[in-house]
Amino acid sequence: MKVARVGFDVPLDTLFDYRCDGAGATPADIGARVLAPFGKRNAVGVILALADSSEVATARLKPVTRILRDAPGFAPDDIALLRFAADYYHHPLGAVAMSALPAGLRQVRQQPARSRTHFVLTAAGEAADVESLPKRALTLRRLLVLFQTQKALNLEEIRASVPTASTSNTVLKQLVTKGYVVSCEGSLTRAPVAIEYAPPEVTGPPLTPDQAAAVAALCADLSAFRPHLLLGVTGSGKTEVYLRVIDAVLKTGRQALLLVPEISLTPQLEATVRGRFPHTRVVSLHSGLNDGERLKHWLAAQSGSARIVLGTRLAVFAPLPDLGLIIVDEEHDASFKQSEGFRYSARDLAVVRARQRGVPVVLGSATPALETWHNAATGRYALTQLPKRINLTTPRIHCVPTRDVRLQDGLAPSLIAAIGKRLAAKEQVLIFINRRGYAPVLLCHDCGWLSNCHRCSAKLVLHLRDRQLHCHHCGHQTLAPKACPDCGNADLSPVGQGTQRVEAALAAHFPQARVLRIDRDSTRNKGAWSGMRTRIEAREVDILVGTQILAKGHDFPSLSLVGVINADSLLYSTDFRVPERLYALLTQVAGRAGRGAVQGDVLIQTDFPDHPLYAALRDQNFARFADSQLKERRSAGFPPFQYQALLRAEAPKLDAAIEWLKRAAALGQTIDNAVTIYDPVPAGMMRLAGRERAQLLVQCASRARLQRFVAAWRVALVEKRPSAARWAIDVDPMEL
Ligand code: ADP
Ligand code: ZN
Ligand code: ZN
Repeated sequence: MKVARVGFDVPLDTLFDYRCDGAGATPADIGARVLAPFGKRNAVGVILALADSSEVATARLKPVTRILRDAPGFAPDDIALLRFAADYYHHPLGAVAMSALPAGLRQVRQQPARSRTHFVLTAAGEAADVESLPKRALTLRRLLVLFQTQKALNLEEIRASVPTASTSNTVLKQLVTKGYVVSCEGSLTRAPVAIEYAPPEVTGPPLTPDQAAAVAALCADLSAFRPHLLLGVTGSGKTEVYLRVIDAVLKTGRQALLLVPEISLTPQLEATVRGRFPHTRVVSLHSGLNDGERLKHWLAAQSGSARIVLGTRLAVFAPLPDLGLIIVDEEHDASFKQSEGFRYSARDLAVVRARQRGVPVVLGSATPALETWHNAATGRYALTQLPKRINLTTPRIHCVPTRDVRLQDGLAPSLIAAIGKRLAAKEQVLIFINRRGYAPVLLCHDCGWLSNCHRCSAKLVLHLRDRQLHCHHCGHQTLAPKACPDCGNADLSPVGQGTQRVEAALAAHFPQARVLRIDRDSTRNKGAWSGMRTRIEAREVDILVGTQILAKGHDFPSLSLVGVINADSLLYSTDFRVPERLYALLTQVAGRAGRGAVQGDVLIQTDFPDHPLYAALRDQNFARFADSQLKERRSAGFPPFQYQALLRAEAPKLDAAIEWLKRAAALGQTIDNAVTIYDPVPAGMMRLAGRERAQLLVQCASRARLQRFVAAWRVALVEKRPSAARWAIDVDPMEL
């Protein structure tokens, strides 16, 4: 008897056994999707193993309905990665496997309607010169070249080689209007085009000596696992290095996977990659695609017809039979860690995957995560540096002290004066308002007193509801003082308020300037951001006011001044990772200044100009900053010197969640006393969607030991069911 062990998208650890002799299962079906009776319905699952017997009585064993062989399943390599991820993040294997699939494969697919039209190159098209097409019409140019080499293409092939279905329609229309191609009824009868790699006709700029050295180091051995940290200051030309390494890998006949934090913000990168490799099929995988596009791109990656896959964190699971290289750009970015459900880190899984496949992995950043930096410092990762900006001066970073200054609607007079000067010189200004919500910390603006926890090196968080100060690390609670314990100042306030009026104030101060506000809300609609970019590049904007979205890799040549407001609110955050993030954020923002010919300046408004973080930032010396942070982390017992996991629980009322965690802690105490179990505390964002959340931190100096502990703890929690709270485990948590 053949038994298929199937994983479904359910929150249960077990795989489910089915008979599958009837379906003619062979070992080649391991990794395939399957339709099988589950509860009252038929559900799609993944066959994760085949066995000759089952612990379930034969009479009760149901047969699978059908093995879905319409699309290839996961390869053994893919399953190895899924298993690793399920074990390491303590998430059910079935749920992990199903979440790695595109939506189009999670249901039973209707047979895709084969398109009945194809397109044929005309004599005019044959004779047309690509160079006569506008330089920026990249898709149009690429499609014409594709037609000139293939003579005829069907709709699927055309759609697969352009970014979206709508572009393929517009571009096709243009080619038809020009008389370069004509449409023909009926499907094209020939084998699908395998688009061969041809050496790029588009060559990049000559490399700088630093870039050349970096490329040589990264390409030194493309046939073995080697993690590299590429530390390059903003504007140092990391992208060009990536392109050269990708080129080298393509030449060895392998595929390249390029992971980026947020693809919606980096359409330029996609265009750059496509522009550089016009004969190579590039597909993207991110949440902005519709289900059909996602499925098509996934299948292209899996079939090997796509040689470059560009994607966000979910793309780390894309099936790549010829994988030869993984690059993680902006590897420090928090978006690589999934914050709900299956809480994996795509950056860390990229390294695991590269090791499993025996290929190099490149982690690129100007401000790497301290975990990554530590790995480089201890020799586990090779370090390659790009210390200089290309053709650009380094922006000067200054602090604008605000403690003894009368602010005008949140703006310091010297910042206002600097803005006026730049505007007069017809340069652009960016005012960056930090408004990411971190828990408020109580601060005395007179003497600098801060609500520190006396039990650990963490800050206490002000909970306004009961005016209590809570330590989110150890659980200590105390009533918020009415006046500063050090100097008696009665005006204690949470840091980081009063930024709302800045935008209006700018408009009032500079009535003739054109102010554009850019944040998540104003850029939610597809295309809104690219419209804004065009306006900025066309110099239709004088002052940009924006939040985090503006920090990322945008290149505005006329922008010469960056003002930063409200950075202090992060300085005294309760989360030990925040200094690292603030440094990264401000470095990125600073990198926006002076991308053109003009010397750029960065002015940071602050009550604490002498704070070591700002001093390090002024020096622009990441290594020094990182080393001092690591020293603190080591003495405080934080990662990367300790490994952490967080048990999260939610219930209608906070007390119930805390109670549940207390019982969970008691269970944990019996497992391994080398693991530190802290007290349960309310979560940073305590109420969410009508439920209240609490969390419990566990920590250990050995990763393996913590892993074993969490596995045993989880079994105990499932078995003993202390009560009915909803709970989840977050390994290597990013937000405490
Ligand atoms: P990073 O990603 O490191 O911040 P970019 O990749 O954006 O830097 O490169 C900064 C700028 O330098 C880009 O405009 C890029 O086109 C340009 N550039 C990169 N390499 C070279 C080179 N070798 N010669 C000339 N310009 C280059
Ligand atoms: Zn004080
Ligand atoms: Zn504490």
